This record gives sequence, structure tokens and C-alpha cells, in this order.
Amino acid sequence: MHRTLQKYFGYSEFRPLQEDIIRDVLDGKDTFVLMPTGGGKSICYQIPALMMDGLAIVVSPLISLMKDQVDGLVSNGIAAAYLNSTLSYREQQETTRAIVDGHVKILYVAPERLCMKSTLELLKYVNISLFAIDEAHCISQWGHDFRPEYRRLGFLKEKFPDIPVIGLTATATPKVKDDTIKMLKLRSPSVYVASFNRSNLSYEIRQKKNTFGDLEDLLKSHDGDSGIIYCNSRKSVESLSRKLNNKGFHTLPYHAGLSDSKRHEHQERFIRDDVDIIVATVAFGMGIDKPNVRFVVHYDLPKNIEGYYQETGRGGRDGLECECVLYFSRGDWYKIKYFIDKMSKKSERDIATVKLREMIDFCESTTCRRKVLLGYFGEELESDYCGGCDVCLKPRDTYDASEAARVLLSCVDEVNERFGLTHVVDIISGSRAKKIKSYKHDRLKSYATGEGYTKSEWLDMAREMVRLGFLDVKGAKYPLLNLNKQSREVLAGGEVWLTRPSDAVAAKPGKPKTTISRSPTSKSNSSNNARSSTSVSKTSNSKSTTSKKTTSKTTASKKSTATKKSKRVPTPISRPDKKLFDRLKKLRKRLAEDEDVPPYIIFADTSLRQMAVKYPIRNEEFLDITGVGEFKLKKYGPVFMEEITRYLKGSK
Ligand code: ADP
Ligand code: ZN
Repeated sequence: MHRTLQKYFGYSEFRPLQEDIIRDVLDGKDTFVLMPTGGGKSICYQIPALMMDGLAIVVSPLISLMKDQVDGLVSNGIAAAYLNSTLSYREQQETTRAIVDGHVKILYVAPERLCMKSTLELLKYVNISLFAIDEAHCISQWGHDFRPEYRRLGFLKEKFPDIPVIGLTATATPKVKDDTIKMLKLRSPSVYVASFNRSNLSYEIRQKKNTFGDLEDLLKSHDGDSGIIYCNSRKSVESLSRKLNNKGFHTLPYHAGLSDSKRHEHQERFIRDDVDIIVATVAFGMGIDKPNVRFVVHYDLPKNIEGYYQETGRGGRDGLECECVLYFSRGDWYKIKYFIDKMSKKSERDIATVKLREMIDFCESTTCRRKVLLGYFGEELESDYCGGCDVCLKPRDTYDASEAARVLLSCVDEVNERFGLTHVVDIISGSRAKKIKSYKHDRLKSYATGEGYTKSEWLDMAREMVRLGFLDVKGAKYPLLNLNKQSREVLAGGEVWLTRPSDAVAAKPGKPKTTISRSPTSKSNSSNNARSSTSVSKTSNSKSTTSKKTTSKTTASKKSTATKKSKRVPTPISRPDKKLFDRLKKLRKRLAEDEDVPPYIIFADTSLRQMAVKYPIRNEEFLDITGVGEFKLKKYGPVFMEEITRYLKGSK
């Protein structure tokens, strides 16, 4: 196994779980693999395919990806091929011939192709080593990605009972997972669930204020890097892309309103590093295997956490860092809500509403982003501190907001709990809005009692109080503020501690605190919202952290040990020589153009970075670089080592 890994892929070690999975497949066992994007699923079937006799068949739903996948394998000296509708008749004939002659080790097919009579006829003459079902969740109707063509795949186990089937996916709730295993008819499968923590991604949520200027700065800090900017509508994609181009950035738009050929062209230019930045709707990403995406921006609010996780997950597939920034505004919330309310089916509308609500909670939460994100998928991080999100890195100050809270609560009381958050804040901040006048709310006792805070600060405070349970919100369509037991305690003199950004002006009612201790009345869910000071008092509710992930009775569950490693984003040990790195990138681009493949097929960024650290100029040294196997050493070693030698000599 290790020899095959090194020889063909040029990697010296397996990632978590890969080795166990490969061993099971080699043993002929059915296997189910749940691993995040970039986790390294492909190798789990590619290595057995190389080590076993016969042909491995990989079922993949994305025809657009097949060519790149096969090109990637071929570039490592592996006999791979694909059969799909993009091939000419002659190409199909040639591939079929090669398969029958036993010249192919790994074959990619779409499910509908596999189920065709002619394909099944062909397979009669072939010795099959294994079936790998990529994106296996597509078989489940419970998944968000159900594909009817996948449904028939259950026949594989019936027709080929002795051939191991390995199902792989990056998206599966426990329900989808169980359903997928059932639909594929896997026999007492080994089930592997890796941690979904993408430790090389950093998460940050910024307020949507001066967003364009802020984005400009972000892009400048990523000069030369590849990145994706997601917007919610075609219109905003077009306008943002244009605005950025006017500022001298080079971006391309991508959305469903473009013609197929334009979309394809833009995607291709991005994959091939012709253009660094793509501005896109969420239509972009399926079928993108680009490993070196260094930033993912959500210019608008995503509709749900699944989407957000998936979209950010397109960054850093190569294991190197990726910066994920989301610009958050409540305005976006209302916009999305408006569309949800227009959905015709009530059940769908309700689900979408709940999911949107969870997205908002994620954005407004003061708990480590990674913890919330993984918690959403049922995975519990042991530590409250990931060190790679804005909450952990830009801690907030905690301050005594008891007086302010009483102002707000009194107003809710005075209007008999019959108004929403914005209206209540309008009253206390003395708004002259029509609505206030028409209700005669400018005559209330609490009118304009909220001096010392701006309206937006009041809104933030009110929302945090809701999150902490000092106020209830009732009613879905017209949410009204309601007092509860905790509110009464505060009105009777209890304490409320809230948080605000560390750089907020301190001279506000309520003295800023440097040492952190939570109010005894506050709920525990934001227990780690401030950890700037050295004296962090640990009141977090880190009780027993037994994972909730369970596996069905029939399956032998093997839990990843990676779940426990929630450490800091790994920083490269030595910094690569940027000048050399850029030169190698140029060389890579030239070679890729000659061969008509994406640059990453030649070498991943990880390989180039290592070269720019280790300066390999001899074969043994070059082979030592990650991603350099025997085939690539022979094919690309000489040109790259020559470039490095020339660089070291200081010549062009
Ligand atoms: P997935 O299909 O799970 O999204 P891939 O199989 O595409 O992930 O792998 C992601 C990246 O990690 C690829 O560039 C792959 O070559 C690399 N990779 C996989 N396994 C290893 C390993 N053991 N060591 C180093 N890199 C690896
Ligand atoms: Zn964190």
C-alpha cells in the first residue's frame, strides 16, 4: 500500500482512515466512506484499484469532471479512462477495445452509462476488481442531491455479489447515510466517518458595511491567489464582477443566466489559472475539483448552513490554507425570507425558514464558528477554541448591560408585548418614524430613554438578549418580543452581561470589563464569547462530549481519530521562496497549456511550495517532494530542476 502511494501519487503518508479503508476494500469488503471534501476519498479506491487484478469501475455523476479526473491519473502514469457521451464514436470504440484487452485499470462512467445494455454486455468480458460509487448520497431521496439515475445502482450488488462496492460521499446526514447504504445494498459494510473539520479553512463573519471597500482590501491581500466570491443573484454577480474589474481586478462572472458555453468557458479559465477570481451564484462549484482555492467570500448571506459548508468547502482542497469570509446583514435575511415565503409547498417553506433561521443564528452567535458548524452536522469539538475563526481570534469584550437591558425590557412591557424588535428599538431610541407616531408611541414613558447607544447598537443588544434567553420572540410571520422569567428577574434588579467588539468605544453606560465572568443568570450557550484577556474564567458547559454519531447495527463502525484533533490551522513549517514559487507557477502554467490540462494536474500548489522551500536539484531530492511519484519525476523532474538550478544561479 505504501509503495503504491509513493510510486504513483508521490505521497509518503496516508491521511486519517485511508489506510483502514483501503485494507477493507482489498479484503473484498463493502465499504462506506463519509469524508469531507478534500479529505482524500479518491485514493481510497484508486490504490486498491491499482493493487488488485482487473478493472475498477468508478461511478461518478459529473461528466464534466471525468476528463480532469482521468487526466490527473494519467499524469501519474495510471491507466485510466472514461466512457461518456462527450466521446466521439471512434473514441468510444478505442476505449472499449482497451478495456477488453485489459489495458485499463480504472474506468469512470456515469450511472446511466453503466446501466446501459451495451455496457453490461461489455462487462461480461471483463474481470472487475471493484465498484466505487462517488457522490453516493445521490442515490438517496433524503439527500439534497437526489439523482434518479443513481437509484438503479442497487442492481450492482445483485448482479455482482462478490465484487466489493465502496460508496463515498462528503455530504450525508445520518439518515442519508443509512439510506444510501440500504439503497446500494451493501453487505455488512465497514462504515467510516471522518471528522468534518476542515482545519485548514478559517472562518470569519464580517458586518456588511462598506463591503466593497473591505472586499477590495481582502482581494489585495490575496494577490495572485485563486478565489470564489458568491452572490445571491445573477444581477449582483454581474454588477460586482464589473465593479471589481473596473478597479483593476480580473474577475469573471458565473451564473445560470449565461449560455452553457460561456459558463463552461469561465469555469475552465478559472480552473486553468487564467483568471484568479470568479464571481458566482451558488450554481458554481458542483463539478469543480480545483485544489488551490485560497479564499471563498460570501458577499451575500447563504440560505442555509449546508450550503455555506459546501461552498466554503471548495476552498483548500489541497490541504493548504483558505480564508472564508461572509458578509452578514439582516437585510439579506429579509430578502431571502421574501423568496421563501413565495414557495408554494408549505412543508418546503417551513424547512427553508428553519434552515435560514439557523444560518442567522450561526452568523450572530458568539461561539466559535467551527464548533457551531460542526455541531450542526452532529460532530462535537472538544475545545471551545479553534484558533481559526473570528470569534476565537477577535474576541469581544464583555460588559455590564443591566441598566440598558432594563430600558429595553421596560419598553417591551409598556407596549404589552405586542411589537417586534425593530419597533421597540425605534421607541427607545426616539425615532420619529410614522409608525411610532401613528401608535402614539412617542408618548410612552420609555420613548427616547435609550440615550447613549445608537440604534444599531440597540439592535445588536436586543438580539443578543434574545439569544441569551433574556427575551422571547413569538410568532413566525410577525415576530413579537415577549417577556419571560429571566426578563422579570432583570427588571427586578438582576444582572445582564453582553458582549461587543473589543474595539468598540468603551465610554458607554456599563463599564467595560477586562476580566471575564459570565452573568449567573445568562444562558450558557455563549460561554466562550470572550477570551482576549489572560484570565478567562472557564464556565463553559463542556460536559461529557461523547459524539452523537452512531452507526446502524449491521455496520462495523470505525470512528476517525481525527475528530479529536481540533487543533489550530497548520502553518507551513518554512515559508516558501515567493519568487521561486511564482516562477515555478509560470512554468507549470506553460506546461499545462502545452498539454491542454489544468495546471494542478501537473503539480499541486503543495508540491510547488515544497520545491520553493527545499530547492530540489537532484532526482532523490525531487522524488522527496510531496506529489512527485516515479512517473512525474521522469516526466517533469528535469524541467523543474532545471528551472530551480537556473533560479539558484540567479539567471532568468
Ligand atoms: P475528496 O475526493 O475527498 O474531495 P481528493 O481525493 O480529491 O479529496 O483529495 C484531495 C487532495 O488531497 C488531492 O489533491 C489529493 O491528491 C490529496 N491527497 C489525498 N491523499 C493524500 C495523502 N495521503 N497525502 C497527501 N495528499 C493527499
Ligand atoms: Zn473558533
